[in-house]
Amino acid sequence: MNLNERLIDLLDESKALFLDFDGPVCDIFAGLPAPVVAERLKSLLIGAGAQLPPDVAELDDPLKVLRRTPDFAPDLLEMVERAFMIHELEAAKTARITPGVDQVIKESADSGRPVVIVSNNSEPAIKTVCERAGFDDRLSGIVGRPIGHPHLMKPHPRPILLACEIVRTTPSEILLIGDSDFDMQSAAAAGARSIGLAKSPNKAKALKAAGATELISDMNELLTSLTQAADW
Ligand SMILES: [Mg+2]
Repeated sequence: MNLNERLIDLLDESKALFLDFDGPVCDIFAGLPAPVVAERLKSLLIGAGAQLPPDVAELDDPLKVLRRTPDFAPDLLEMVERAFMIHELEAAKTARITPGVDQVIKESADSGRPVVIVSNNSEPAIKTVCERAGFDDRLSGIVGRPIGHPHLMKPHPRPILLACEIVRTTPSEILLIGDSDFDMQSAAAAGARSIGLAKSPNKAKALKAAGATELISDMNELLTSLTQAADW
């Protein structure tokens, strides 16, 4: 079977489509780069008196800074969360929408597969981007970052399970599209299948190793299969 046939088979068995946000839906940090936000969060921590562990000082991903904060500055977690949410909202204004995702959302919803965004980004930023792109009212739900509980973000299975509750289905009947190891691991931990969105052979290898059921390099590949899958 070729990729399209395998994707159609997967979709035929899937009653809902879950989309990771940063990657499959948009590049949220296209205009306000993630390393800039990471630096802002680290400066904020230092300004509040925290001693950054060496590995944290080198981080250029704000989500990783947030994830590590409870380990060395638990009292500052709320402050970092609040600042990060404001920076994400700023980034949302210049996020770049992923080619093909609007059609994927429309086609999936039209075929009877509700679409839920499952993300480690915060909900206000996700809503802002989806409203700007004009597909907010086609979504069945948004599961954003568990504010104040970074250990419950993906790769924890909880976000997937919450999204399943929204569409009243079980993990075995959904398909998660994501572009990170954590997405694949979260899906696998929940008992769900996943499609890894990989732009390079190395990324594809990593996502496969993290548990991806299938791999695509472009959202339009998924769109092609969606148009041929059976309706629910
Ligand atoms: Mg992502």
